[in-house]
Amino acid sequence: MGITIQDMRTRPLRDLRISVTDRCNFRCVYCMPKEVFGRDFAFVPQNRLLTFEEIARLARIFIDHGVRKIRLTGGEPLVRRDLPRLIAMLAAIPGLDDLTLTTNGSLLAKQARALKEAGLRRVTVSLDSLDDAVFMAMNDVDFPVERVLEGIDAAAAAGLTPIKVNMVVKRGLNDGNILDMARHFRGTGHVLRFIEYMDVGTTNGWRLDDVLPAAETVRTINAEFPLEPLDSNYPGEVANRYRYRDGAGEIGLIASVTRPFCGDCTRARLSPEGALYTCLFATVGHDFRALLREGRSDEEIGARVRSLWGKRDDRYSELRSSETIGLPKVEMSYIGG
Ligand code: SAM
Ligand code: SF4
Ligand code: SF4
Repeated sequence: MGITIQDMRTRPLRDLRISVTDRCNFRCVYCMPKEVFGRDFAFVPQNRLLTFEEIARLARIFIDHGVRKIRLTGGEPLVRRDLPRLIAMLAAIPGLDDLTLTTNGSLLAKQARALKEAGLRRVTVSLDSLDDAVFMAMNDVDFPVERVLEGIDAAAAAGLTPIKVNMVVKRGLNDGNILDMARHFRGTGHVLRFIEYMDVGTTNGWRLDDVLPAAETVRTINAEFPLEPLDSNYPGEVANRYRYRDGAGEIGLIASVTRPFCGDCTRARLSPEGALYTCLFATVGHDFRALLREGRSDEEIGARVRSLWGKRDDRYSELRSSETIGLPKVEMSYIGG
């Protein structure tokens, strides 16, 4: 079953988010603004990406150190060629309780069945609005809402459930679409989650004024569809959960700005190049690809995991302030949220 390791704040290592690519077919304004991620942007070249074999080997070592949940992310994970092969390799490692993936949904209608057959358990699909004009202005590549909804339907039909739908709320951009989204996903069995717009990376021009506090989202929904709070499913769950009083299901609020949850944060993040980040807002990653390609043993790599986690003291969101906001942080499209 592996060992449990703890950081300096007694938080165990439980989750691993693996970013399989820094590329994406969307240019969401809050994540990969076109002015920065344009034609001549230098994405990670193929030979610097971890191979599936390297990812699976690291995953096994992390599972031996307490990881129970793996989430694949990106960039857009479904643009990485042959992803089901990686999923099958990860699904075959004993000891995982959950194997999931976050996607923009654009390629899901095509791939849902293959992902399920490879061993993926469920998916989280990002969708910021049901209004085409708003959604297209946010994804900035004119991608229509309908095709994401088709992807969600295909995932449900393939059994990649329960499905979570993530909506990043940016004040003045899509906060007018909160009720529509709630109305649409009530009663479907999919869990809609509202994410406060975060100051990840350095390119999205984040301002505190752009954040719609989760409490306001709850007030808006509660006025139309009465809500009541639910207990969390497990310690360390980042979403605050509410259920509709009429039994039409539940929603989640991820209030990383107004109610930080660093005290329970059990996640490590692996970049497409094999750098380990112990916080979403970390300014430096730790190179595991070098260890793999130098021919280090599992024991040597495991020792590096133990030493890095043992020194971990991150709690950026709790400390967020005018000084931390300008730091040179890793981009969301690289490390995957
Ligand atoms: N491309 C996939 C997608 O969009 O689902 C996976 C990667 S994306 C970086 C992961 C999640 O981070 C998405 O739900 C996205 O909406 C969210 N995200 C990106 N930038 C964000 C920001 N500045 N604040 C809050 N959430 C953000
Ligand atoms: Fe791509 Fe996801 Fe970032 Fe949007 S949020 S640009 S879909 S990586
Ligand atoms: Fe975890 Fe860092 Fe986010 Fe806090 S700011 S919850 S430590 S990733």
